[in-house]
Amino acid sequence: MSKIFTLPNKRIDTQYDVVVVGGGLSGVMAAIAAAREGKNTVLIEKYGFLGGMATAGLISPFMNYCERKSTTPANAGLFRTLLDNMYDIGAIKTPSSRTFKEQLLKIVLDRMVTEAGVKVIFHAYMSGVNVTDGHIKSVVISTVSGNIEIKGKYFIDASGDGNLAAFAGFEYYLGRDEDNLCQPMTTCFNLTNVEWDKFDHYKANQLYKRLQSEGKIENPRENILLFDSPIEDLMHFNTTRIIKKNPCDVEDVTDAEFVGRKQVYEMYDFLRKNVEGFENSELIAIADEVGIRESRRIVGLYQLTEEDILQTKKFEDSIARGTYDIDIHNPSGGGTTIKFIPDHDYYTIPYRSMLPVNGKNLLVAGRNICTTHVAHSSIRVMPITSCIGEAAGLAAAVALDSNCGCNDVDIKTLQAKLKAYNALF
Ligand SMILES: Cc1cc2nc3c(=O)[nH]c(=O)nc-3n(C[C@H](O)[C@H](O)[C@H](O)COP(=O)(O)OP(=O)(O)OC[C@H]3O[C@@H](n4cnc5c(N)ncnc54)[C@H](O)[C@@H]3O)c2cc1C
Repeated sequence: MSKIFTLPNKRIDTQYDVVVVGGGLSGVMAAIAAAREGKNTVLIEKYGFLGGMATAGLISPFMNYCERKSTTPANAGLFRTLLDNMYDIGAIKTPSSRTFKEQLLKIVLDRMVTEAGVKVIFHAYMSGVNVTDGHIKSVVISTVSGNIEIKGKYFIDASGDGNLAAFAGFEYYLGRDEDNLCQPMTTCFNLTNVEWDKFDHYKANQLYKRLQSEGKIENPRENILLFDSPIEDLMHFNTTRIIKKNPCDVEDVTDAEFVGRKQVYEMYDFLRKNVEGFENSELIAIADEVGIRESRRIVGLYQLTEEDILQTKKFEDSIARGTYDIDIHNPSGGGTTIKFIPDHDYYTIPYRSMLPVNGKNLLVAGRNICTTHVAHSSIRVMPITSCIGEAAGLAAAVALDSNCGCNDVDIKTLQAKLKAYNALF
């Protein structure tokens, strides 16, 4: 006779030292940084793999992590370890390559969290937060085993979208000031069987623009944005442009998935039928999730600005560096605004930008820290978000050791630890 089941009441009774929500690069680095300090750390991720935009969003390459016109790194620490591990497994061609194989990145990240002793819970969507007077006690995750409460002493929001902070009631900014529009979303995709030697990018752009002006191409992006890959005949496209959708509205994000895939096919069809080198190309991968450049930015103790970045400000409470330029894809149509930061220099990111106003035991890591819309366009790239994540994990560890709130972390102690791990700040 068949045994009949009802849903058991699964519980996880551990009170973790550090709970990290979001297994993108910032969340992974945060979890590893806390775990290697001996803290009992759990990492909660909605997919069945790590990497966030780098894997689920098919985002490649890593943007520049050295100072402009220089080989001096601005992003190191765990990000450097990641590159070394990727090189060892053949995910990048040389130790300083920026294009990578995203499937091998998944393997590398699995190994890194396992070696660090991080407890990972996959297929777990953080759907609720228990918070009193700014102090978070636990989060609720929705899983195949039902809803489970995860208790912790310190929490890190590395969800990219600021979900933990927003669900807990902390305030956030959204998009540019005049109309709250965020940078456009992009569904990335890969083609194989591309004959690179026959491909003329300039000619393809000319034809694309003509067809766009005749209304035969719907994608509003000004040109075709593509990258090479360590896989010889593979071409990576970051070229769809989904505008005027709110990344924090589930119906808008649903629409964006449809629009993104429509534009993917439009571009593939255009290339195959009109552009030399693509006759035999195959669409082998569409990102699992529409790429979200910008969503919630928490209201924190310091809002990083365009001036801070372009004037390469060095904050006393710096926890990471950045060298990437201001890079704003037009939220409402074609065009991209780029402003360069000076050669042989870097700006810094203050610890206060990770701290939500009125927060007690919450740090925010990754692209949802406190910045203006313009400053966000620089700090959002993967080398920088990785370093912010490492700093958040270490800060949680320091707070635990000192038994203090995140706002009272001794910055010199945190910086000394970052230095000991070869991080740059
Ligand atoms: C189209 C596009 C092109 C880009 N191009 C580049 C580029 O060329 N080079 C570059 O360096 N950077 C680029 N970026 C920026 C970069 O990819 C991201 O900003 C960066 O990956 C952000 O890292 P993160 O860890 O903060 O967030 P994410 O990578 O977004 O990770 C967040 C993680 O949290 C998980 N998550 C979210 N909510 C929940 C929840 N409620 N419960 C459980 N899990 C949750 C997600 O599944 C995800 O794994 C690009 C971004 C986009 C969208």
